[in-house]
Amino acid sequence: MPRRDLVRIVLVGDDGVGKSSIITSLIKESFVNNTKTCTLLKKVQHVVPEVTIPPEVTPENVTTSIVDTSSNPRSRAHLLSQLTRAHVICLVYSISEPSSFDRVAEYWLPLFRREGINIPVILVGNKIDLRGGQVTNQGLEDEIAPIMREFKEVETVVECSALLPLNVSEVFYFAQKAVLHPTAPLYDSREHTLKPKCLEALKRIFRISDVDKDGLLNAVELNQFQQKCFSTPLQYQELEGILDLVRSYDPSAVLPGITELGFLYLHTIFIQQGRMETTWTVLRKFGYGEGLDLREDFLTPRFDVPYDCSVELSPLGNQFLTDIFEAYDKDQDGALSQSELDELFSTSPGNPWSASGFPDSTITDDMGRVTLQGWLAQWSMTTLLDHRTTLNYLAYLGYSSTPSASTEPPLSTPTALHITRPRKQDRRQKKVTRSVFLCYVLGATGSGKTSLLRSFVNKGFRGHEDGSPGGYGYEPTTKVLSVVNSVEIEGQEKYLVLQEFGSKYESETLRNSKKLDMADVIIYVHDSSDTNSFSYISNLRQQYSLDHIPAIFVATKSDLDLAQQRHEVQPDSYCRRLGLPAPMAVSARLGPMTNLWVAITRVALNPTSSLARGPSSTMSPAQRVRMIASITLATTTFTAVVGIWMRYQGYTLRGIWGWIGRISGLGRGGQQ
Ligand code: GDP
Ligand code: MG
Repeated sequence: MPRRDLVRIVLVGDDGVGKSSIITSLIKESFVNNTKTCTLLKKVQHVVPEVTIPPEVTPENVTTSIVDTSSNPRSRAHLLSQLTRAHVICLVYSISEPSSFDRVAEYWLPLFRREGINIPVILVGNKIDLRGGQVTNQGLEDEIAPIMREFKEVETVVECSALLPLNVSEVFYFAQKAVLHPTAPLYDSREHTLKPKCLEALKRIFRISDVDKDGLLNAVELNQFQQKCFSTPLQYQELEGILDLVRSYDPSAVLPGITELGFLYLHTIFIQQGRMETTWTVLRKFGYGEGLDLREDFLTPRFDVPYDCSVELSPLGNQFLTDIFEAYDKDQDGALSQSELDELFSTSPGNPWSASGFPDSTITDDMGRVTLQGWLAQWSMTTLLDHRTTLNYLAYLGYSSTPSASTEPPLSTPTALHITRPRKQDRRQKKVTRSVFLCYVLGATGSGKTSLLRSFVNKGFRGHEDGSPGGYGYEPTTKVLSVVNSVEIEGQEKYLVLQEFGSKYESETLRNSKKLDMADVIIYVHDSSDTNSFSYISNLRQQYSLDHIPAIFVATKSDLDLAQQRHEVQPDSYCRRLGLPAPMAVSARLGPMTNLWVAITRVALNPTSSLARGPSSTMSPAQRVRMIASITLATTTFTAVVGIWMRYQGYTLRGIWGWIGRISGLGRGGQQ
């Protein structure tokens, strides 16, 4: 829930300070034409009934209820019950009655605390029409600063006159803002600094927006940022305005673009100026929720995958991952070193594959660093096996903010993915449209499955040079091992994901029909030098119903002497009886097995001709077809507010007022 849809404002303060008049004045727009106070008095009820303002006429476009109260002790129960239901309090005093101001800090604010009312407070100094002489920012600050220091629930101080009227709608505007764009999570008003979580979020946003990763937001990147956050391009003068502002703070913060420090400084200024909505808009556009964590709906947008379909990267997704690889490949050597990877993942919780053998799971260069080919293959595998992780990481890495043509709205994460059509349909139409295939590698312990997987991703052979079993480096596989690489076939690039389970998970997987249904190909592996190896496969095939999955048989260790299998039928005839080609003889020790990879891909592409001809086995469960709801990101509309008059901590930076007005969507009318 990014924003509330109701704001409840309660006005409190001493009797006679003008609470009811302020509400009346707001409703009447102009209070009274007659400037005589006595007219006023007669026209205003003691306690004005609750007012509900429809969203269209409020500046923040949200339904707003305004509640009047009385400070009469007899109305105390009503007052307290209203306070507990409020989202923000307007605490009113009269500048013509010093005691009403004194009671702000002596009575009212402590009362809220005592009652456990933990919501923002807008301090409203009414009746400024009665003040003679000039007021200075300094004067106001001297009065207000001690209160602001002691009570950080006080968000803003606004002076107004219900009589004139002056600044009345601003009182409510700031009250709305205090609820919708609260300062507290962003800014430490005592220390005058951004809070740690806000700082962290803004730094992350900076890194994502720095498309070329040179540590600077240049004009193009700033424009993209502006477009994404505020849906308007950045004008040249506006850009100059920002650069001047940041330069005035720290000349080194503006080189050919804004540094991270300059970016943080800009936000500090926005907040100090009471323009929290600017920073909040940025944070929300980048997926942050009210607690300044990335929102669940942003990290994992709704993405339903119908039964019998799989998930692949779309061209947009591939492009994004290619771009980000290239941006972080600082030395442009076509591979990501550990430090480059760390940098790349710095906007995320870290490398998602650190526990699954990466980068050995994919193609690396001779120094073991992932190449672009390997990087894309790895993402194809992740997307196939666990598309939620891909969705999460696209969000973490800033996918939705990728620069498209500058006028287009940012892309929502699911556009990076593509759902294949049901496998059944592929088979019916005899045309396989998938390009990433899942292959289960099954075979006895020590039959050479892991070596097969390693050789698929060009990792060196680990074993005795003579190939004798149990050689150096042999460890039985105990957890699921997955590797991925691309295979070129008839000018097309396809990805194969080879998966090995280890004895423990193998039976678990084969028993689970849902998991089994995911497989495109089963690769049956036996060790041609081990007499007991083949019976394992034949037992497996008897034990589980696997015949609905296209299959290929592989005989490993062809560099060793062929052994007669202790099995009633030898592998060749066994396969012949199934109507499948004889096992393909390969050796991980002797080198590349290109033919095997092509053969597996052929099986995946021609599933029906690679089904074992046996007694027909159970077919897949009934289809559950669900519609895919498209995700529409809620967009925020801003309405112009005219004549904001505010003094907050004495900051006036009129020079950039126009730009801030633009950037926060408030329009140039915001100028005084
Ligand atoms: P409440 O008790 O806080 O609701 O105060 P009221 O709205 O009843 O106003 C108390 C008195 O202050 C009335 O006589 C109003 O006419 C007067 N008053 C309210 N607002 C203003 C203002 O902005 N300027 C002046 N001069 N008088 C005001
Ligand atoms: Mg009243």
